[in-house]
Amino acid sequence: MEPKINLGDLTLEELTAYVKSRGESAFRGRQIFEWIARGADSLDDCTNLSKTLREKLAAEADIYLPKVRRKLVSKLDGTVKYLFELRDGNTVETVVMSYYHGYSVCISSQVGCRMGCTFCASTLNGLARNLAPHEMAGQIIAAQKDMGTEISSVVVMGIGEPFDNYDNLIKFLKNINNPAGLGLGWRHITVSTCGLADKIRRFAEEGMPINLALSLHAPEDGLRREMMPVARAYTIEETLAACDRYFEKTGRRVTFEYALSEKNGGLEWAEKLVRLLKGRNCHVNLIPVNPVKERDYVRSDRRSVAAFMDYLNRNGVNSTLRRELGADINASCGQLRNSEM
Ligand code: SAH
Repeated sequence: MEPKINLGDLTLEELTAYVKSRGESAFRGRQIFEWIARGADSLDDCTNLSKTLREKLAAEADIYLPKVRRKLVSKLDGTVKYLFELRDGNTVETVVMSYYHGYSVCISSQVGCRMGCTFCASTLNGLARNLAPHEMAGQIIAAQKDMGTEISSVVVMGIGEPFDNYDNLIKFLKNINNPAGLGLGWRHITVSTCGLADKIRRFAEEGMPINLALSLHAPEDGLRREMMPVARAYTIEETLAACDRYFEKTGRRVTFEYALSEKNGGLEWAEKLVRLLKGRNCHVNLIPVNPVKERDYVRSDRRSVAAFMDYLNRNGVNSTLRRELGADINASCGQLRNSEM
């Protein structure tokens, strides 16, 4: 039997064309698209379609929403971490953080990861598979439905490398931006990449001015290669040139992620980072490395973190310390999924 078409993987245009090809009027496509964003978990949930139509479509198509396998709520700050189960039994992690301006959700883009960053828990068991567009959007929709609240911003910073799942990512972004769906503005969406420079260049041409975050973590190729295998494929120079291009095309300032450990957190590295980034319209997001038991990274102490940040700011490189949320529920991604494997 042919696998069924998952309607959540279609853009609004595709869904409209699909229902037309089945002899239905175009607006049925829009209705289904709206239902999916509102949390429909099967065609039967689309109650403004006739039963006959639902049955006709269900013969070859369906809708699926990820299921809550586990849910942890931080007693410290209310951060919620979900382990969602997908139809094939695979699981992904999603974190919902509450900010003064609303709820922000951090979603996964793949089941596992093959980028191999040596400080990261998500890549320990390699890549199982890519997430389909409906599984990325489904994390937002299922979290909203479960919490009974509206999510106002999305960061693609959970498990996986979004640009290693490029086509699905683009479709997902289109769908959540569509006003008939979640209607999330480009400025409320952030994608974080370990630095697939060719994809950054391609993404600059897509006409989707979202926020781009680059996981830099080291100001020199030698150290970066030790920490991140992707640095063997693309030099920092090439990667930053791609980020500059992104800024030129979209007007969106790129954020650089820098996880501080004893390896890259000394002031000599701060000096190198300033030399690298000075004069760029950018922002550095610092975070003390989150210790992963299978990894040997030791996080920088508070003092070194403060000194590092201070050095950057005094020398013209904007930086802030990322607030650590959900410390009691291990809210940084990868670890909950691993603990269930
Ligand atoms: N693959 C993408 C997005 C997922 S990782 C990327 O690399 O950007 C999200 C962020 O968490 C990245 O900046 C990543 O480098 C960082 N990260 C991974 N493991 C970490 C750890 N143990 N401590 C601190 N940050 C970590």
